[in-house]
Amino acid sequence: MGTIILGSGIAGISAGYHLEKAGEKVVIYEKDSDWGGLCGNFTIDGFRFDKFVHFTFADSEYIKNLFEESSPTIAHPSVSSNYYKGYWLKHPAQNNIAPLAIDEKVEIIKGFINRKNIPFEEIENYEDWLRVQYGDYFAENFPMVYTKKYWGLEAKDLETKWVGNRMHSPNIDEILRGSYETQEKNFYYTNFMKYPKKGGFRSILNKCREGLDIRFNKEVVEINPDKKVVRFKDGTKAEYTRLISTLPLPEIVKMISNCPQEVLNYADKLHNTCGYMVSLGFNKPDIAKYLWFYIYDEDILAARVYSPNLKSPDNVPEGCSSLQAEIFFDCKVEIPNKEIVLQNTIEKLVSMGLFKEEEIVVKDIRFEKYANITFDKDIYKNRDFVLDYMKSVNIESVGRFGRWEYMWTHQAFESGRRVL
Ligand SMILES: Cc1cc2nc3c(=O)[nH]c(=O)nc-3n(C[C@H](O)[C@H](O)[C@H](O)COP(=O)(O)OP(=O)(O)OC[C@H]3O[C@@H](n4cnc5c(N)ncnc54)[C@H](O)[C@@H]3O)c2cc1C
Repeated sequence: MGTIILGSGIAGISAGYHLEKAGEKVVIYEKDSDWGGLCGNFTIDGFRFDKFVHFTFADSEYIKNLFEESSPTIAHPSVSSNYYKGYWLKHPAQNNIAPLAIDEKVEIIKGFINRKNIPFEEIENYEDWLRVQYGDYFAENFPMVYTKKYWGLEAKDLETKWVGNRMHSPNIDEILRGSYETQEKNFYYTNFMKYPKKGGFRSILNKCREGLDIRFNKEVVEINPDKKVVRFKDGTKAEYTRLISTLPLPEIVKMISNCPQEVLNYADKLHNTCGYMVSLGFNKPDIAKYLWFYIYDEDILAARVYSPNLKSPDNVPEGCSSLQAEIFFDCKVEIPNKEIVLQNTIEKLVSMGLFKEEEIVVKDIRFEKYANITFDKDIYKNRDFVLDYMKSVNIESVGRFGRWEYMWTHQAFESGRRVL
């Protein structure tokens, strides 16, 4: 009997680390055979791939220092690129339209000048937000197309509170300058993206993970909050005095004995994206030209591609390089078969001129059921109902999928720390 934490992602590790430091003994139960959750990685023939892109841009000194003490990092300038119908535009595309054909630049600039002028408090959905920020032409051809690829929904079906500083809103000077030449200035929400020199992204957690009692291959299948017992898929049970969970809300409610149907209905309405990772290793050092880039074309399933070897050379065998493409879908639609996704990704990346198929020495595709929380219009109502229920059965729900929030890693870490 004691404190149990469900899940050994960054939120679970943080909760465990801070509680142990405060003198509370904890046991973490994890369904996988290794720790890290979305911060984890896998290695194939010496090529290490994280689960999706992953850099840290923590701003709190406390978190930055803990990550740095765990594993010294490389600070990469936040410079990325965009692929659009055969053109490469520095990120953010709206500020760097110089490479485009003149007619298209004229349409973008005209659209920007004539954009709708709606007060922010009257903007009802993300599509309107995009039209007001960028004008119709750019909105329709760039972020609205990308929204469908990244979020799996139309922009009109998303709300806008999540946007924050994630998207740069340009002014006319920036648009005009960027239509003549690529801008040196960084418009990204952070100047540097940090990544551990060694051991893949999860190494930022080495110090916190040290000494924690994590039990692997322990998939929770049932929770009885009255008896304070958790049951695992292997038939074993554990009793608790305190239960902290980082499991996705739509999953955990189905495990709770006698969970009311109404709660299950609300949880079922929560939307998220799921995603494939197509991971490729090459027998040459210089395949990757950009640390990461976005792809706007609809016929290319991949939304974003990054290079593990540019994040750190430690991720590949000497003389080699690697790419990982991210392909997202709304969790409620029928997900294409992995062979189709793999074939489309490789064919399209080859046709973009990134590499030749015969240069691939490692090829892998894998799936994650929970990638991003989707901010559809009813998210807050649905989420709050489920969170109120979790509280009523004394389960402390933390982390990205436990709070159902758009958390970056340092925010998920902070969420785990809040159990103190
Ligand atoms: C595409 C993508 C890119 C991202 N890039 C960045 C980035 O560059 N920088 C950044 O800061 N953040 C990034 N993030 C966000 C970051 O990954 C998350 O905020 C963070 O990893 C969430 O951690 P968590 O511990 O809350 O959840 P998770 O990592 O999901 O941990 C939950 C754990 O619970 C376990 N679990 C689930 N079900 C059970 C069960 N039934 N029984 C036992 N265990 C179970 C899981 O296996 C997992 O280990 C990105 C996320 C995505 C999807």
